[in-house]
Order: sequence, then C-alpha cells, then structure tokens
Amino acid sequence: MDYPMRIAGEPVTTPRPVEVKLPYDGSPVGTVYQAAAGEVDRAVAAAKAAAPLMREMTLDERSGLLRKAHARLLERQDEFAHAISSESGKPIREARLEVSRSAATLLFSSEEAHRLKGEVVPMEAAPAGKGHWAMTVREPVGVIAAITPFNFPLNLSLHKIGPALAAGNTVVHKPASATPISAVLLAELLEECGCPKGAVNVVTGPGGAVGEQLAFHNGVAMITFTGSPEVGLRLRNLAGMKRVTLELGNNSALIVEEDADLEEAAARSVAGSFAHSGQVCISVQRIFVHQAVCQAFLDRFVETTRRLRIGHPLDGATDVSSLITEKEAERVESWIGEATGAGARLLLGGKRSRATLEPTVLKDVPAHARIACREAFGPVVGVNSYATLDEAIARVNDSDYGLQAGIYTRDIRKAFDTARRVHVGGFLINEIPQYRLDHMPYGGVKMSGIGREGPKYAIEEMTEPKLICWKV
Ligand code: NAP
Repeated sequence: MDYPMRIAGEPVTTPRPVEVKLPYDGSPVGTVYQAAAGEVDRAVAAAKAAAPLMREMTLDERSGLLRKAHARLLERQDEFAHAISSESGKPIREARLEVSRSAATLLFSSEEAHRLKGEVVPMEAAPAGKGHWAMTVREPVGVIAAITPFNFPLNLSLHKIGPALAAGNTVVHKPASATPISAVLLAELLEECGCPKGAVNVVTGPGGAVGEQLAFHNGVAMITFTGSPEVGLRLRNLAGMKRVTLELGNNSALIVEEDADLEEAAARSVAGSFAHSGQVCISVQRIFVHQAVCQAFLDRFVETTRRLRIGHPLDGATDVSSLITEKEAERVESWIGEATGAGARLLLGGKRSRATLEPTVLKDVPAHARIACREAFGPVVGVNSYATLDEAIARVNDSDYGLQAGIYTRDIRKAFDTARRVHVGGFLINEIPQYRLDHMPYGGVKMSGIGREGPKYAIEEMTEPKLICWKV
C-alpha cells in the first residue's frame, strides 16, 4: 500500500519510493516517498500559509478539533495499532496501548486548549509602576518542526502535534524513516476532523537531509525533537535563534531498598525493562538492589523474565519481539559481550536471531561498560548490589543522563530524601522509572534534554508570553 506525504492537505509522491519493512522478518509493509529540498520548502510554505487560520481559531474551536480527533482515533484504533506494530515491530498488545495513550494525549491537548491563558502582572510592585496595569497573553510561535523517533511513532508525534495545535501553531512533521506510516495516517485523520489544510504536513525521508533542512529553515520558528542525544545536540547547534526542545535518551536506574516490596518491585521491573524490547527512553536499565535482598530480588526477576514469550509482533500472545533493525540487535549483543568480558555475569538470555534478542539479565556490570553507562535501548538490564543507600544514590547519579529514576522502599523519609538527591527530571517512589502518564510533566536534565512535554508543559514551550501594558 502507498503512503504519500501530506503537504497542504494533499498527497505528495516523489520519484524516490522507499519500502517500509516489518523489522521482525523484513516483509514489506508499505511504500513511502523520500522528500527532497523542494518538498520540505513546500511543506514549510504550506504551514506558514495555514498559520493565520490556526492562530485565529478560537480556543474552543481548537479544543473541538482535538476532541474530534480523539474520538476518531478511538474508532480507528485497530487500523492504527496494526500500522504501529507492522512498521516498528512493537508487539500488537503494546501497540494497542500506544493508540489508547495517543487518544489520551489528544484529549489532554484539547483540554489544555481551553486553559490557554496569560497572567496579570503586578506592575505597582515597582515604584515606577504606579498607575500602570499589565497582563500577558500567550501567542503561538508559528511553524513548528516536529522530528520524532521510531519507538512510539504515534504517541510521541502527538505529544508535539496535539499541544502545537492547541496553542494555535502549525506543524511540519518529520517522522523516523523506519516508522512513517502512522504519521501519514495521523495527518489524514486530523484533516478528516477539520484541521485546516497545511496546518499539519508530513515530510518523509532521511533525518540527515530532511531533518537538517528543517533545522536550518528560515520559515521554522521552533524545533521539537525526540530522539538520540547525538542528533539532539546537533539540531540544537544548527537551530540558531529557533526555539528548541529536546527529549533525549536515558539509562534509567532503579534502587530497591532492603525494606521494599520485592514481589512488586521485581514484577514491575520486568515490565519496565523489556516492554518493546527495551526500546523505551525510560526503560529500566540499571537496577541497584540492597545486598541483603539482592538474591531474593534476582530469583523473582529472572523467573518472571524467563516466562516472557518471544514472537511475531502481530501475534497477540507475544511479549517481546524484534528490535528496530538487525544492526541494532547486533550492537546490543556486542555491548553484552563487552560487559561479560569485563566481568559481568550473564544470568539469562543474550542470544540473538536476526533482529530479535532474548531478554537479557546481567549481574555485577562494571560502571564503565557501555551497557551501564550508555543508553542500551535494547532488552537488557544490569543488576548490581550495594551496601548503603548513599552508595546507591551516587551510582544512580553517576550517569550522563537524567530523565527518570526511582526507588522501592517502605520508608517514606528515605524515599523523599532520595527523590531530592537524585538529579533527574522525574523521580518515582514505589513505581518503576519507566512509568509515564501523558499529562505528566516529562523531560530530562543533563544529556536527557531540554524542556518538558505533557500537553500543559509543551504548550508553555510552544507559545510566547506577550506583555500588554497600559497606563490608567
Ligand atoms: P534518532 O536516530 O535520533 O532519530 C530520531 C529522529 O531524528 C528521526 O526522525 C531521525 O530520522 C531524525 N534524524 C536523524 N538524524 C538527523 C539529523 N542529522 N538531523 C535531523 N534529524 C535527524 O533516534 P531513534 O533511533 O529514532 O530513537 C531512539 C532515541 O530516541 C533513543 O535515544 C531514545 O532514548 C530517544 N527517545 C527519547 C524519548 C523522550 O521522550 N525523552 C522518547 C522516545 C525516544 P531518520 O529516522 O530518518 O534517521
């Protein structure tokens, strides 16, 4: 099936068709078309032309558009789940969950459109302010370039497009080359729900060409990017005076204290480590367990992991399927080899068949091994024991990343003290750091990024507070 780009509400093909393949076995899923500079220019021009229309829509009209899209997405959820699973290799059960979360992201964006407001400025707080009144109004920034990754192709796109529309902006969306189909379907769905032509455009093609052209483009006011730290940093350097928000990687850490509910901590950690084969930016990658309970935790963790079913992503019984490419699976496999070579013990998994890697559990991973200090983005977790909580906190903080982290403990004082001392964007107590709801403020510190998502917070990034002052 053909999936042309969407520019100004029209399907656009080019003489450069590209086949999208199911990562699990390489079977064809559909055809998209590679954009060249001309298509990118046309998409930005279309977004610029639609900007006054979006800006002039009332808050209630924008909210209504997003509410309608929420309802329509739920009606078409099977089609979208199938597209996500086929293009990304995500198990269909998880793809269905992604669609329902995507619908929630649309609904939260629609609600935030109703709440878009500025504030009254207390001018008389300064002596020269006597007799002056002022307020701010939040204005859309204009054309937003949304560049998105493969791992949640629909929901992470909506975390950009939903708030952008709620705030009255227009969008040029560049999805990951591996997962462009759900992006094209989404643009069509929004148009079907009354989105003005050109308000959401999709250009498909390689990041190094299409993405960088958007980063340079004079017609683009803001770049909102989710992806790897390397590309994020590059985009920031290219962006000049454009606004930039970056949602980047992590090597999420969890502390399990001596007094934790081990049953719950182990069961939740298995889900947090191996969902979508660990290709989740907050996948639980490093687990630090108090030495007194480390073996008991591991017994539970390994046993639950062993029961995960590996298989075809479209099989409803599959828990774990392939990585996005065979090359990625080989990379993770080689990092596992590096860790075991440096003294880590392989407790489970480690075997690869094409793009599929078994859920892998390592013990005693040295801090300098890439599987510990870099983002693994694969189905592998390292469990290490510690003697004191201070030591565990130091090891959690010994990371270039800082998206989310967590602790399991029954001691509330210890929990909150740790929450204050761990340097991350979000800290979870008695919950895994892979936990996210779509209205939460979400984003990282250090190499994990700049800015926050979650519709309320993304809208703050996507609007300018304009001051209006008057003398009475
Ligand atoms: P990626 O390789 O950085 O790609 C992300 C997007 O950037 C894709 O659309 C890609 O296009 C594009 N791109 C690549 N090179 C570019 C360049 N030079 N200029 C402009 N755009 C460029 O990341 P990924 O492999 O798709 O996703 C995995 C990463 O995303 C992980 O690091 C993960 O942690 C991160 N992530 C973060 C969050 C979060 O919210 N913090 C959520 C999910 C994922 P092509 O596909 O055409 O290369």
